Amino acid sequence: MATTATERKLLVGGQWIETGDWLEVLSPYDGSLVGRVAKGGAEDARRAVDAAARAMGDPLPAHERAAILDRTAQLVTERAEEIARTISSEAGKPMKAARIEAARASSTFTMAAVEARKLAGDAVPMDASPAGVGKLALTLRIPIGVVGAISPFNFPFNLVAHKVAPALAAGCAVVLKPASQTPLSALLLAELETEAGLPPGWLNVVCGSAAEIGDVLVEDERVTLITFTGSAGVGWKLRERAPRKRVNLELGNATPVVVAADADLEDAASRLAANAFSFAGQSCISVQRIYVERRAYDAFLERFLPKVEALVVGDPADDATDVGPLIAASERDRVLEWVDEAKATGARVLTGGELAGELLRPTVIADARPDAKVACDEVFGPVCTVTAYDTLDEAIALANGTRYGLQAGVFTRDVKAALEAARRLEFGGVTINEAPTFRADQMPYGGIKDSGNTREGPAYAVSEMTEERLVVVQL
Ligand code: NAP
Repeated sequence: MATTATERKLLVGGQWIETGDWLEVLSPYDGSLVGRVAKGGAEDARRAVDAAARAMGDPLPAHERAAILDRTAQLVTERAEEIARTISSEAGKPMKAARIEAARASSTFTMAAVEARKLAGDAVPMDASPAGVGKLALTLRIPIGVVGAISPFNFPFNLVAHKVAPALAAGCAVVLKPASQTPLSALLLAELETEAGLPPGWLNVVCGSAAEIGDVLVEDERVTLITFTGSAGVGWKLRERAPRKRVNLELGNATPVVVAADADLEDAASRLAANAFSFAGQSCISVQRIYVERRAYDAFLERFLPKVEALVVGDPADDATDVGPLIAASERDRVLEWVDEAKATGARVLTGGELAGELLRPTVIADARPDAKVACDEVFGPVCTVTAYDTLDEAIALANGTRYGLQAGVFTRDVKAALEAARRLEFGGVTINEAPTFRADQMPYGGIKDSGNTREGPAYAVSEMTEERLVVVQL
């Protein structure tokens, strides 16, 4: 059940503003009104860029930026339960997962504060060439400019943190456009930033038409970097439209896991059952395609299926719930269509594949053809496939048989096989004896192929959000 409806305004230049128009935020679980936010457009986005550019005209020293980030981390910890409730109400994320997201966001701010404190360039060894003798040179890290940030619905607080915190650490002001389904978490984060002492203009939040606000971020030259997390179609199009900006993309995946016969099958089954269905599979690195060595296939399923069937499907506000709703009924229907498509081409549903009330039950599919959508595209729902393989070469080829490349996993006790797989799996990250859904916020996180072109994690994002300026001194 949703909590009491909240009303929030936009944040532009330190002012909370109304626009005369409202965007309603509805619970994905029961359709009730969770809140409403002022709905902005191109004009508000332009004013937000003006405010951000003005703020950057009066730079904040690193120690102040770090102190603000540390205070934000503290406030996130103090108000973690309120943050988790907000995430859960608007995204339909079970409280178990929403609490983890809130805790992780605090660590994202803490790590960004560390980066603000150590942001520095390099000394250049000038006398290493005859041309440099008699000169001293160093590089400075200069904030790249106004950062335009666009965030998705599925981690509405921590993925906003992953854009705002490194930008502030780097000395960049931000114009943020959160997902229309989940703007309340972003505006709560903005409130905490203000409370932490962030001066006006450094963080501006404009909710509303993605096309209008996106156009302003693409067209305004003062926005020198766009950081986008969301679907591949939207992300790559944005990058095409802004060839002279840095456009950093964190996109989707069709996450594979290879389970060798020598793996600890009990441990693999537990980790994969939890991580294929948490938040109903709506994580970019939700376990989706499990490849099990043929001689362990039955033994794996014997352990895996009861754990999947034991997951509690229900109200995300309930502490016991593991699997809640998809973000919209239309998404649930799309996922069901994908399951039907797999069945029509010979796949078998081992469990799930049907509704529990309005919610899709965790679904496990066997014998899916490699070209079925559930076996190569991003399902973004509570569905996984389990497929037998005979050789490691075959498993790696199956895992790589997707346009995506974000994270993949391997379960085995054979170190050599694990490291060979890590080298040959075409993904930005590979986990060994851990589900590929794992992420700690300081890790370099991001994909290759259609999954993106950058790495997030404060240290990596700060580097992207600064330019190296060379200074040469004649001695
Ligand atoms: P989405 O539909 O692409 O939306 C993401 C954001 O882009 C939203 O704020 C959306 O605004 C905005 N947007 C849509 N059209 C736009 C346009 N023409 N110009 C500018 N902005 C535009 O993605 P989603 O459904 O929210 O998120 C799910 C996707 O994100 C999945 O593919 C998932 O794998 C991916 N994801 C990736 C990561 C990662 O770190 N790699 C993490 C989480 C999620 P509106 O909401 O107003 O439409």
